[in-house]
Amino acid sequence: MNERIAETAERFESGSAEFYCECADPACTEWVEATLPSYEDVRSESTQFILAPGHALPEVEEVVERHEGFNVVEKVEPTLAAILTHLDPRAEPA
Ligand SMILES: [Zn+2]
Repeated sequence: MNERIAETAERFESGSAEFYCECADPACTEWVEATLPSYEDVRSESTQFILAPGHALPEVEEVVERHEGFNVVEKVEPTLAAILTHLDPRAEPA
């Protein structure tokens, strides 16, 4: 019990916190642990998100940083949207 409290306090002091994985899977319930400064840093870029390792989908997000407990990805959905639009014959009038 005390050990758990100490661990929590230690984490608090180091500024670590747990965040939801922000991968493309809406059903994903994974948590990732990251330090608050690194999370702030990631979120300061509107296209970057924190993901659990291995959750990145190459089609929609590119891993830009790999850390011990989490990966940082850059969403590339606009590109994907453009590709999908291009591939969809109904998107352009003949
Ligand atoms: Zn995930």
